[in-house]
Amino acid sequence: MGDLLPQLAAVQVERVEASEDLLRITARTRDDAAVACPACGQPSNWAHSRYERHVADEAVGGRAVVIDLSVRRLYCENPGCEKATFVEQVPGLPRRYQRRTPALQAVVNAVAVALAGSAGARLLSVLHHVLAWASVLNCLMARFM
Ligand SMILES: [Zn+2]
Repeated sequence: MGDLLPQLAAVQVERVEASEDLLRITARTRDDAAVACPACGQPSNWAHSRYERHVADEAVGGRAVVIDLSVRRLYCENPGCEKATFVEQVPGLPRRYQRRTPALQAVVNAVAVALAGSAGARLLSVLHHVLAWASVLNCLMARFM
């Protein structure tokens, strides 16, 4: 799996479900991995809770890919740190609040720059990524703001 989808090398893949047009991958970060606090750099694996993120990735084998990724909110163990808790980030997977992997976002950005709104949305749907034309336009606008 790590060779095929290197962005999942750092997580545990629990299930892969393939339908005609969708590959759904259920994965979770490792319980025992210490992660550096983004504010102070202190490593922590003291879990507060978990929640699931739904992330779109590049198509594989003619199917759209969705990753259901369980990530941890961790306590910062440094009593002098401003952050009480933080959410772990996974290399190769999007940062907080983003719904596409960096690889897929690069594809969407390239199409948005070349074709903008509805033409871009049509090309992306051929590439198995369904986006509204307004979303394609938003990606284009975000590059210049
Ligand atoms: Zn900290």
